[in-house]
Amino acid sequence: MADCIFCKIAAGEIPSNKVYEDRQVVAFYDLDPQAPVHVLVIPKEHIASAQEIGPENSGVVAHIFEVIAELSRELGLEKGFRVVNNCGEDGMQSVQHLHFHLLGKRKMGWPPFPPER
Ligand code: AMP
Repeated sequence: MADCIFCKIAAGEIPSNKVYEDRQVVAFYDLDPQAPVHVLVIPKEHIASAQEIGPENSGVVAHIFEVIAELSRELGLEKGFRVVNNCGEDGMQSVQHLHFHLLGKRKMGWPPFPPER
């Protein structure tokens, strides 16, 4: 997809610090890490958001979670990790190409937002 930064990363047209790549997915370090380990896992195929997942493309999402499990072992996340998908305006999605944040090596907070008053 023209003008999609993550499509360009997937195609190798702009640089990224890749930790994993296969035919369907790429994983690379986030530019603005929110934890000692912060990797983004994306499908190479352009899927705009989690709202666009259906029977025709859910296979790559299953594969992404297999890759996340493998990366968690390779990156030393035996104590656990968090996977985050921000979706749409309320979800504060800033890049309109489906991606899963893999965050680890620190204790995460919950809930991830301040209570509404
Ligand atoms: P989200 O807010 O869930 O859409 O997350 C987008 C993420 O992409 C943010 O954490 C950004 O820091 C990250 N990001 C944006 N551009 C790049 C890039 N060129 N390389 C690595 N991470 C990026």
